[in-house]
Amino acid sequence: PRLVREAAYTYVRPDGFEKSELVGVSQTALKDLAIDPSTVESEDFKDTVAGRKIITLDNGTEPKDDAIYPWAQCYGGYQFGQWAGQLGDGRAISLFETTNPKTKARYELQLKGAGKTPYSRFADGRAVVRSSIREFVVSEALNALGIPTTRALSLTLAPQARVRRETMEPGAIVARFAQSWLRIGTFDLPRSRGDRDTIRKLADYAAEEVFGGWDKLPGKIDSNDTTPSTGVPKDELQGETEHQQNRYTRLYREIVRRNAKMVAYWQAYAFTNGVLNTDNTSIMGLSIDFGPFAFLDNFDPNYTPNHDDHMLRYAYKNQPSIIWWNLVRLGESLGELIGSGDRCDEEEFVKEGVRKDWADELVKRAETLIEATGEEYKAVFMAEYKRLMTARLGLKQCKEGDFETLYSELLDTLEALELDFNHTFRKLSHISTEQIDSEEKRKEVAGVFFHHDGLGSLVGEEKDARQRIAKWLETYRTRVLEDWSDSPEEERFAAMRSVNPKFVPRSWILDEIIERVEKKDRIIMSSTQEGTNNMEKMIFERSMTDKELLSLKDVYERIT
Ligand code: AMP
Ligand code: MG
Ligand code: MG
Repeated sequence: PRLVREAAYTYVRPDGFEKSELVGVSQTALKDLAIDPSTVESEDFKDTVAGRKIITLDNGTEPKDDAIYPWAQCYGGYQFGQWAGQLGDGRAISLFETTNPKTKARYELQLKGAGKTPYSRFADGRAVVRSSIREFVVSEALNALGIPTTRALSLTLAPQARVRRETMEPGAIVARFAQSWLRIGTFDLPRSRGDRDTIRKLADYAAEEVFGGWDKLPGKIDSNDTTPSTGVPKDELQGETEHQQNRYTRLYREIVRRNAKMVAYWQAYAFTNGVLNTDNTSIMGLSIDFGPFAFLDNFDPNYTPNHDDHMLRYAYKNQPSIIWWNLVRLGESLGELIGSGDRCDEEEFVKEGVRKDWADELVKRAETLIEATGEEYKAVFMAEYKRLMTARLGLKQCKEGDFETLYSELLDTLEALELDFNHTFRKLSHISTEQIDSEEKRKEVAGVFFHHDGLGSLVGEEKDARQRIAKWLETYRTRVLEDWSDSPEEERFAAMRSVNPKFVPRSWILDEIIERVEKKDRIIMSSTQEGTNNMEKMIFERSMTDKELLSLKDVYERIT
């Protein structure tokens, strides 16, 4: 372990386990990476995802060309608001980049838990089965829900490897991939060292390689904005001059918009990351780093899955503001570039450093632009959040007043009655307007939102609860009828079910899966077994009642 300066990565050779067991492969991941499913059976595949082998050239020799030698990224970060210095990929090693020939999407494939790197600091570079299963499942589940995320290709167990945590635990390796693993922390670190050259190189790399070119970034402020990544036509930055909107500002805006959309998804599906340090905030706006994450069960805005987070900094309700806090750190790292307008390419600026008489002016200009981008962040977040909630409620539009009387009132009701968030939307996806066309019927139907054993701690107040839900259902019914007057209800149900999963990988379900895998209560499967799926077999087949199995089939469908 060491400090690495003026560099964004270090070449590292993975240190895989001699014996291992490939227990899970995501079929969707194979498709997205354009890997032939039959490859999974090969020793090459198993050795590669277990860290035993690095990709070889056609003649069987290992690549000498640096460009494809495995590497670990260098980054820093603010942890719980405090600058933490150099962190880096302490237990992740990237193997190669690959481009899907059809979609043209480029991915960086890396192994988590394949040994130490220069960034391992005091730790062992390993990962345990528990956290690996959690990452494997949640990555693919988020992706299935359409939520931007890093992905998982495979899960490999290394039963003989003993990893010291609180006790000795078996180790595992997840092969995972993303269009980019850059984080805000990647920029924090050179900034903390005054390394302007590395910041510029990283920014140019992000724009040109990650986002596919400067022309793919949000347009100049006075042009009609047709950026593919945003749905917000109204440009919050109007009033700024073109001069100030240089290309680094446009890069910053792209990163801000992507993160605004991602966190809107988290809020709409009640996902909490749990550790939103700047090293865990992606430049691509991906959900990244799955530590103590959780989907909410009962709707509780103050919920955090992180037991060390006593201040609730990373609680569910704080996620949008924390992501913005992190994005301001990025704005500061890019400050000189953002503030320099069209002088950003002047030789003097690039080579000589910022002249003293420029510096104040640049920072002032950057501050104004970062603030304006904050307004854009809010606008993109709200537009996306409304869009998602509208879809989840099965409405076609969010009308004036809906947000207060319908959306907010629903959230308040769920919170007050301690009802399950995602369950509620799934239940709504089955209720016809006819089933709730009288007060009596609505009170009856209200019961479906309760837990199996009643109303949590509120059993005694069931009558009031039914009344409150019934009142909301009345408002809801009116709006549904307005939006769907001339379509059959099956159409609305289908639309709602496609965005309201029956299954979310809740913590207790993940715990069950982990326990079974650790107890070896699983079937070791091959990817080609007919009519079945790895994940389903591994995770769900044993000791399930028919009813459970049925709902878990849905799990599998949602995940893949
Ligand atoms: P996280 O809390 O997951 O964001 O991790 C913070 C930092 O600790 C990152 O630099 C990780 O790479 C590093 N880290 C966490 N666990 C380990 C480990 N077992 N071995 C090496 N580095 C680790
Ligand atoms: Mg991290
Ligand atoms: Mg982590």
